[in-house]
Amino acid sequence: MNAPHSPGSDKDSAPTPGFSSNFLRQIIEKDLAAGTYKDRHWGGSPGDAAHHAAGPLDAQKVRLRFPPEPNGYLHVGHAKSICLNFGLARDYGGVCHLRFDDTNPEKEEIEYVNSIIDAVKWLGFDWTQPGNDAPYQASDYFDFMYRAAEYLIEAGLAYVDEQTPDEMKRNRGDFGKPGVDSPYRSRSVAENLARFRQMKGGQLDDGAAVLRAKIDMASPNINMRDPAIYRIRRAHHHNTGDKWCIYPMYTFAHPIEDALEQITHSICTLEFEDQRPFYDWLLDRLCEGGLIATPHPRQYEFARLNLTYVLTSKRKLAQLVNEGKVSGWDDPRMPTIVGLRRRGYTPEALQLFAERIGVTKSDSWIDYSTLEGCLRETLDGTAPRAMAVLDPIKLVLTNWDEVMGAGKLDDCSAPVHPHHPDLGKRHFKIGKEVWIERTDFEETPPKGFFRLFPGNKVRLKYGHVIECTGCTKDASGKVTEVQALLIPDTKSGTPGSDAVKVKGVITWVAVADALQAEVRLYDRLFKEAHPEAGGVDFLQNLNANSLTVMHAVVEPSLATAKADDKFQFERHGYFAADRVDHAAGKLVFNLAVGLKDGWGK
Ligand code: ATP
Ligand code: MG
Repeated sequence: MNAPHSPGSDKDSAPTPGFSSNFLRQIIEKDLAAGTYKDRHWGGSPGDAAHHAAGPLDAQKVRLRFPPEPNGYLHVGHAKSICLNFGLARDYGGVCHLRFDDTNPEKEEIEYVNSIIDAVKWLGFDWTQPGNDAPYQASDYFDFMYRAAEYLIEAGLAYVDEQTPDEMKRNRGDFGKPGVDSPYRSRSVAENLARFRQMKGGQLDDGAAVLRAKIDMASPNINMRDPAIYRIRRAHHHNTGDKWCIYPMYTFAHPIEDALEQITHSICTLEFEDQRPFYDWLLDRLCEGGLIATPHPRQYEFARLNLTYVLTSKRKLAQLVNEGKVSGWDDPRMPTIVGLRRRGYTPEALQLFAERIGVTKSDSWIDYSTLEGCLRETLDGTAPRAMAVLDPIKLVLTNWDEVMGAGKLDDCSAPVHPHHPDLGKRHFKIGKEVWIERTDFEETPPKGFFRLFPGNKVRLKYGHVIECTGCTKDASGKVTEVQALLIPDTKSGTPGSDAVKVKGVITWVAVADALQAEVRLYDRLFKEAHPEAGGVDFLQNLNANSLTVMHAVVEPSLATAKADDKFQFERHGYFAADRVDHAAGKLVFNLAVGLKDGWGK
């Protein structure tokens, strides 16, 4: 191997202002300092060596790519990869391509293509460059890939193998045993070319032959033991239709896609580390043949994101959707980008998360609370506050009529945001009847309970001090109403209002101006931090109580809440108006994240 860099180390050097360094940044900085890619030309679009040579010097200092296979919705792991690749391009004066890796004809769907485009845009990134608005598609490179395959054959570097799949597997050997040459390995160039053209022409059955690179059947790296690079598969492709009945293998296609797009740094997850020698072998050969521009792209691997209580595999997430374990790809409990977004996650929170977890070269698990912490941090400074009573019980102020006047309502107000007086105030009423949280009253208080119990005084936040006198219960002993006395001259913000000292402050909403709202409380989707630990089926570890629907009441300022708006419900947490079900007159809020980290409990 002739990689220009030693593999990066994880040790952080002095952080550059604005972001912390990592081994990928160090590699890019070294390349920029050395001018590794400064003489590259750019033909204005992806293409071969001649195409790029005819273009001007590339104005982009680096080119990266995010290459999803459009076979599912993107998840939080992809968000990490998007933030990483687009972030590096942004920080180093380059561009990041969005490329659909659609070389596998069977699985791709336009629904996924559109959702991926939305996800990247929503996260705040842009792949467009002058003259190139559309994302790239790997299937547009099939003609070139075919040409590259014929070139390898002509150079004596590829052959058509017609062993059965079983024979091929057996003859590949294993870690302890070198492989055995296929009897077809010594075919002449002419015979290989003719046979490969027959593969392309549809004269051979699916699976009857594969084209293999001719490298080294004794290589200690099994990926170098003559890997298959083309297979026969009669399948309709969403882009190329029925033009092809042979399709390139991923390991052959991916390096070529990178090369045609003049990618400088091709960043992938660790499981591709063993593929890197073939990546370089193939691109070195194509450079020698003058097919692709030099210097060719280099592959670098980083550890994929593993998040506790979460699955990051499109296939497994598809299973949750298909088996009805969640309401869809955008169920707020899903770690998909559409799910996180519906839950109340913001692009800022996911970007902060990606930055905070950084990139490393060894696999580890990130605690789910790290993700939640990022959301809390980004919402705290911006989310308007509101009062909501999630599990309401009626409180009656029995002396209201004498103190305030029968049927009277009094005005109360509170800051929209405690640190942004410029955002103004919310206004709401207080009257004889208010809703309070069921859990804010105890007939017989446990030790350390400072809220409502007979004889105790609390403040109704932004309102008056009250003293609890008792409650009413139904036949089953369930409390149906709480009674209290209003203490005169204690209204928040009026002179002398703090003369009466209380230990507890509770949130409330007046019956007179309360709005009904459906509030969806979410908990982790899995009971176990590692849902598949010990080889168990993850479906066994689903948390049966991951969704609780509350019939809540909320303050009147929320009447104008629009879908996607985020709020802090005081004492409860951060909530988002549901993107799908919330509408004027039908308020629906999702719990995005609690006020404090409750996951450790
Ligand atoms: P899945 O196994 O969920 O299908 P994938 O890796 O097959 O994921 P791709 O569409 O091929 O999905 O991935 C697009 C890019 O996202 C790749 O570059 C891949 O490395 C990256 N990626 C996927 N999952 C993760 C993850 N958990 N952490 C970081 N990057 C990821
Ligand atoms: Mg994949």
